[in-house]
Amino acid sequence: MPLYEWRCPKCHALTTTTDNSTPPTCTLCTISLHRRYTFYKPAPFTPHFNVSLGRHVSSRQDFLEGLKAASDSATERTGIPHNYVPIDIADRDAFGATDESMDDYHRQHHDSPTYDQLREVHASETGGI
Ligand SMILES: [Zn+2]
Repeated sequence: MPLYEWRCPKCHALTTTTDNSTPPTCTLCTISLHRRYTFYKPAPFTPHFNVSLGRHVSSRQDFLEGLKAASDSATERTGIPHNYVPIDIADRDAFGATDESMDDYHRQHHDSPTYDQLREVHASETGGI
């Protein structure tokens, strides 16, 4: 069964459906989600202890239900709408990373002075103390 991915243009929440006939609506923002096209194939689900939920999750469905329950609980507790979604570490969009911000990150790190350069500056300012 094919899976279709949709992303909210506002809050960036990712939703998966088995039907691509109509775009689903974001449960938080109540706006239509945008179809997300990708050639990335997520790894098969491995049962594990999930630290976010604080319990063992046996399947993807179990994990999604746990996130839904945690979202509902946090919404009720805080009065602020919560919608926890699984985030793929390879999904840069989910973290709001843009090509520009990635370039800035690399520029900062490549332009940073080395430890030896900092020592030279320190030595010239303090007379080597
Ligand atoms: Zn949204």
